[in-house]
Amino acid sequence: MTYLIDRIDFVDNKLCEFCKRHLRTNIAYILIKDGIEVPAGPSCAKKNGKNSGEKIPDFTKASFDVPEDDEVDQVRDGANPVRGNIRARAPRPAGYHEVEYLRLRAEKLVRFNGAMFPKLKEIYLKYQTSGLDDTDITYLERLIKKVSADNPLLSPKNLQNCYAYAFWLERFLDKKGTNEFASSVLAQLQQKLKLTEAQIVAINNWFQHIERMPRLDTKAFL
Ligand SMILES: [Zn+2]
Repeated sequence: MTYLIDRIDFVDNKLCEFCKRHLRTNIAYILIKDGIEVPAGPSCAKKNGKNSGEKIPDFTKASFDVPEDDEVDQVRDGANPVRGNIRARAPRPAGYHEVEYLRLRAEKLVRFNGAMFPKLKEIYLKYQTSGLDDTDITYLERLIKKVSADNPLLSPKNLQNCYAYAFWLERFLDKKGTNEFASSVLAQLQQKLKLTEAQIVAINNWFQHIERMPRLDTKAFL
């Protein structure tokens, strides 16, 4: 077991690295070994990750109904939720929310307007090298409180929405080649950190012609 489970993230049309089943939910556990990332379903992540008892950052909290994971059927017991295999049971380490929030802004949404600023970049570099200390965690904790009160567009919930909507818009553009409307909506999402209901309705109309695309919640940003 030399793999480290890094995060839960969106993937597009990938197979589980270990059992080769199709990850049809578009959500995977991302494991890392020697700097190489591989996607896995929940049960294979649990079997192969040396930190499988830990709670890990989840960048798919704003997700949508997509077909179930092939791999899930073999591990589901009774009424357990489909995606609950690792994340429901694992204890939450101190700083979990803060690290997830830091990575959301510094890794996932780095191109979004206002996501990055010098102090955050400094903390992120520290996270990648020596790791965060209590002062950093406290700083992030206060930052989350402050944005949630003063600028909800930068709240954890809204940024999870931004990441999920950007993921699906990018997948759509990958599948479709170019689409001026979707490109402009994506650019606007990156600029304004939100979309209007009318824009999302229009996106859903485009999405329904493409296989394995979800129906996005039109009221996510209200
Ligand atoms: Zn698997």
